[in-house]
Amino acid sequence: MENAEYPAASPARWWEAEQDGSVRCGLCPRACRIPAGGAGYCGVRINRGGRLFSLAYGHPVSVAVDPIEKKPLNHFLPGTKVLSLGTFGCNLGCVFCQNHTLSRACYPSSRQRPAVSPEEIVRLTKREKCPSLAFTYNEPTVFAEYAADIARLARQEGIKTVLVSNGMISAAPADELYPLIDAANIDMKGFSEAFYAEMCGGSLHAVLDSLLKLKKLGVHLEVTTLVIPGKNDSDEMTNSWLDWVENNLGRETVLHFSAYFPAFRCRIPATPAETLYRIRDLCRLRGFCNIYLGNI
Ligand code: SF4
Repeated sequence: MENAEYPAASPARWWEAEQDGSVRCGLCPRACRIPAGGAGYCGVRINRGGRLFSLAYGHPVSVAVDPIEKKPLNHFLPGTKVLSLGTFGCNLGCVFCQNHTLSRACYPSSRQRPAVSPEEIVRLTKREKCPSLAFTYNEPTVFAEYAADIARLARQEGIKTVLVSNGMISAAPADELYPLIDAANIDMKGFSEAFYAEMCGGSLHAVLDSLLKLKKLGVHLEVTTLVIPGKNDSDEMTNSWLDWVENNLGRETVLHFSAYFPAFRCRIPATPAETLYRIRDLCRLRGFCNIYLGNI
């Protein structure tokens, strides 16, 4: 079904109508209440006529073949290519976003491009001889309906599925999407609620719930932290994070620590390589053996 103002909008899932014509989106913990004619925080879910529509379904804005290590996934199908796709929008508002041209962009209302079906994405993955397909570039939660439909088809065709996500997703959509995923790289942006509140407008608790859910499902899991000087790089915070990983995921978990560069609204100087080496040494001292450093 199409929407008059946005011809390419598709009916969304996971929402409830309110008495006053607004809708409550249930896709992520932000739980936006979207007034008639408005859009959610992510910019891709819109209320038209008291119903929720997705602008992202069938409309990838970036599709490319990448090395799997670029996701980054270092322990899943190493040395292979992955068909990667993303759309616009994000449900977090990280002041340091390294990818804000996609995450904070919106679909223009005049857009008329034909939709790309899940079948076409799977066909393209086979044509490019990629053994896996990744939802990446922007936050896949905001296009969860599209990702789930693609993943279901990919599974039927023997193609592995990869999720690169901030982990901020509500229980119902996670319960549907996560079982369709073979490997995930989840951001753990900083191990405190204060960090998430100040720097991202999100919730650490929700991210940890997602990690536990993926672990329980047996999804191959790697976790990435973008290290920002003075914000999430202390030994104390790193030790707290490692405590949690040890107790809940295991010391064999693959952990990535990447250097940050000034971007978007954050002007803190770039992460020195020495900071990443210090964190790696701390991890190794505690018996974590699968530690990777990025952007250095
Ligand atoms: S998915 Fe988007 S519209 Fe829905 S609650 Fe999250 S930010 Fe709001």
